[in-house]
Formats: sequence, structure tokens, C-alpha cells
Amino acid sequence: MFPKAISEQFSDLAVQIVKKLIVAELNKLIKIIPDPKPIEGRIIDAEEDLFSVQFRGMMSALDELQGQFLQGLSGSTIQNEIEKNIRLLDEWTRARTVEAFRRNFSELEATAAIRNINLRSPKALAETVARLSKQSSDLIITLGRNQIEAVKNEVVNALNEGISTDDLVAKINNISKTTESHARLLARDQVGKISAGLSKEKQTAGGVPGYIWRTQKNLRVRGRPGGLYPDAINNHWDNEGKFFTWANGWDAPDGRTLHPGDDYQCQCFSEPSFEVEKAEIK
Ligand SMILES: [Zn+2]
Repeated sequence: MFPKAISEQFSDLAVQIVKKLIVAELNKLIKIIPDPKPIEGRIIDAEEDLFSVQFRGMMSALDELQGQFLQGLSGSTIQNEIEKNIRLLDEWTRARTVEAFRRNFSELEATAAIRNINLRSPKALAETVARLSKQSSDLIITLGRNQIEAVKNEVVNALNEGISTDDLVAKINNISKTTESHARLLARDQVGKISAGLSKEKQTAGGVPGYIWRTQKNLRVRGRPGGLYPDAINNHWDNEGKFFTWANGWDAPDGRTLHPGDDYQCQCFSEPSFEVEKAEIK
């Protein structure tokens, strides 16, 4: 199962971060973009001087923005917001894992497994949450850096090639839109990977040796005939219902060892299983 509601919330947060720290600032910058075309009837030299002053102003505004962005992300508010989402994911995976224990195991096995996952100390949880939040915020920082670099390049190109202000504004707006959609994809991928990792942590703490690979059974599943990715190198569709151990995972055709959720944007999940001998072992 994929935590859709938390994923939406996390995506909104990621977009909010890039918007707050970048898009809003870029909109201010757009207002001060100099027009590289000399205006008819005015003295070219004066025009060029004005242009270079405005251009330098814009580049230093971009540098300042880059600095603010890095500072902003290391600030505690954003970190806390990300941490809240990670804690929600932790609670979500815990509830789903407990449910799966109750559904798949005898009462005795389930009780023992649940007791074991409850043994985790608050300190260990806090460490996990901090590590995962750092990982997500680092990725968002990289996204922000790339956007600012892309804008800088467009400004330099505008100067070299003499493109119109309207075209430059359109290019910067496109960069903003791309960054927003990348922020959403990044958040969804993070939620998938983090919940997969937390599920693994809980299942192994509960003494579960392995899992049945479950797919969403939708058109996005890699390898599904007639689906969106029928020719994917790693065929998740064929893994549906197969047993894998937490120790060994799946030796994927791309050379990596994977668990459900590890592949980019993968929404497969692990159904805890003790029934090693009944399942197909790969
Ligand atoms: Zn998958």
C-alpha cells in the first residue's frame, strides 16, 4: 500500500519550499530584468551602460538568492515541517505493519512481532527521523541550486544572444514550473523510499524473515504487459506474489539488489511473511 495522503502533503510541502524560497524571489527578479534590445531613439552607449548596471544588479540578486536559499533550508522551520511528515510516515508504516501481522500471522506470532516492534526506543526513532529528514532536505536544496544555476545561465545567454525580455521571462517561468513538478516527483519518490525503508525496519524488528512482493496492480507497474512500462528492465509485475527475504532481496536485472519501493517512483510494497517454505524463493 502507498501512503497517498502523506505523499500529497509531502509534495505540497516540497513545492511550498521551492516556491517560498525561489519562485517568489524569481518573480521579483523578473521585474528588474533589463531589456537587452536598445530602445529606438535613445543613445546606445547610455543604453548599454544602463543594461550592464541592471545586469550586474540582477546577477548579484541571484547570488544573494542562492545564499538565502541555502540559509533558509538549514533553518529549523523547514526541517521541522519535513520531520513532521516523516513522523507521520513512521506512524503510517507502523499501523500498516501491525495490520499485516494480524492478517497474516497466528495470534501468538502477531503478538510477539508487535511487541518486538514496540521495543524501539524514542532515541532510535528520533535518529531515524533526523537522518531521513536531512536526506529529503538535501535533495530539495540540490533542486533549488540547480534552478538558480539554470536561471543564471539563461540570463547570461540572454546577454550573449540578445534575446528579448519577454523570451527570458518565459524561460525563467518555465524553469519555475519544471522545478515545481520536479519537487512533486522528488517528494513522491522520497515518500515511497522512506515508507519502504521504515516498513523493512519494522518487519525485521518484528522478526519477519521476508515478504510477499505486492504491486499496485495498476498500469504504472513496471513490466505490466499493455501498461505504461511494458519493457522496463526491472520487471516488478512478474514479482507480484513472490517471496523474497529481507536479507537477500531481489537480484534485479539492472544489477542492483532491491526491495519493494527502492526503484525510482516504485509504489510496490512488502507484505510480511513467515511462510518461507510455501513461497517461491528467488
Ligand atoms: Zn514497483
